[in-house]
Amino acid sequence: MTSFADLTTIGVGGHIAVLLEPTTRDGVIEAVEDAYSKGKPLCVIGGGSNMLVDDAPFDGVVVRDARRSINVLDGTSSSEEDGRVVRVNAEAGCNWDDFVDYCIGLGLEGVEGLSGIPGTVGASVVQNIGAYGQEVASSVENVEVWDRKEHTIAQLRKDQLAFGYRMSALKASMYSAPATPAGEFFPTPRYVVLSVTFALRRSATGVVGYGQLAKALGVEVGDRMETADIRNAVLKVRAAKGMLEDAHRYAEPAMQGTKKPRLVDIALEVQAKGGVDGVDPNRHSCGSFFMNPILTAEQSETLPKDAPRFDAVLPDGRPGVKTSAAWLIDHAGFHKGFKINEAAPAGLSTLHTLALTNRGGAGSKDVARLARAIQDGVEKAYGIRLVPEPVVIGMDLR
Ligand SMILES: Cc1cc2nc3c(=O)[nH]c(=O)nc-3n(C[C@H](O)[C@H](O)[C@H](O)COP(=O)(O)OP(=O)(O)OC[C@H]3O[C@@H](n4cnc5c(N)ncnc54)[C@H](O)[C@@H]3O)c2cc1C
Repeated sequence: MTSFADLTTIGVGGHIAVLLEPTTRDGVIEAVEDAYSKGKPLCVIGGGSNMLVDDAPFDGVVVRDARRSINVLDGTSSSEEDGRVVRVNAEAGCNWDDFVDYCIGLGLEGVEGLSGIPGTVGASVVQNIGAYGQEVASSVENVEVWDRKEHTIAQLRKDQLAFGYRMSALKASMYSAPATPAGEFFPTPRYVVLSVTFALRRSATGVVGYGQLAKALGVEVGDRMETADIRNAVLKVRAAKGMLEDAHRYAEPAMQGTKKPRLVDIALEVQAKGGVDGVDPNRHSCGSFFMNPILTAEQSETLPKDAPRFDAVLPDGRPGVKTSAAWLIDHAGFHKGFKINEAAPAGLSTLHTLALTNRGGAGSKDVARLARAIQDGVEKAYGIRLVPEPVVIGMDLR
């Protein structure tokens, strides 16, 4: 029997009563509707890289979309940016990094900075993935969804998707308040993503949008470089921070066939060059575990002077101040590698303060205990309750 531990990057979570892997669009819709008609909890899963699931059995239906095609669409208008816009549609089950590699191979610019982010195209728009100065929102044109409320297919345009920092209308449909499930549509949004259409630019070069990346490439932020070089640099920087998903997982029976073999080999090579081997303590994580808090100007004034501050937008649209969750965690006394005690099977990544890792044999309660210790410690030090970035299923990490 398959468990969430087999399907998630952090490697924890209970047995799954029913796992369906539809290979057609109708099959995905039928699986979703069937769970609804039987009153069963539904979890649509992609790469399982943004989920922390309780160890108790999941008495519901898990749907993993097995459609992974990518198609360049006709009808790109020559009037748009001198014919440089190219529309590409990818099915929800397509591995995200397979998609990035494909686009770069076609000579398209727009997603190269998002190289090496684990997961699927379907989930990329749920939390508006972002890294190294790029967000998926900037290249999405529209998202084809199954609306579980109206029981119909809908096309959501970019302006209907309410993209924000690690946020979208899809993700918002799951929560009534930060980390508080909305009930009906949790742990999967009201809108099940069927495919995503991207508007990318025909260009072999892209903008280097982040300091660390510019340093790795020996250029300035804002300079243009070959997209392939940007991709390689991003993968290297990610490997050095333990922020590449462990590609060994694709050899496991539950993950086989979900990523292109050529790209699994490349990922293994990058990991090995970055010093990551089969016994890496940081291999099982959800990436960043906490979101960077967005505060009002008044709240931000209570932080120490040297705390990072960036302009941001509050959920209600007012201007706000984003600070760094990693900074807060570190300055509250939780440093890289932190564990609650020597024997604890979960700990902070030894390379990145924001990643909670399963060091081997951790259960959901071990990870939750570590997460709460950090939330409590940061709240005590700075009065800010950190909100988990992954979807936390069967546990309360408010
Ligand atoms: C090592 C590591 C590094 C990471 N780095 C980054 C980073 O730099 N930036 C970043 O933004 N994220 C990062 N992440 C988080 C994660 O990779 C992304 O959030 C990713 O988009 C999750 O994709 P997934 O397919 O694994 O989603 P899952 O974990 O399978 O699902 C997450 C949520 O999306 C929903 N979902 C999945 N598929 C669909 C669908 N078809 N329709 C509707 N809902 C769906 C699920 O129900 C769930 O609510 C990182 C994770 C790891 C492990």
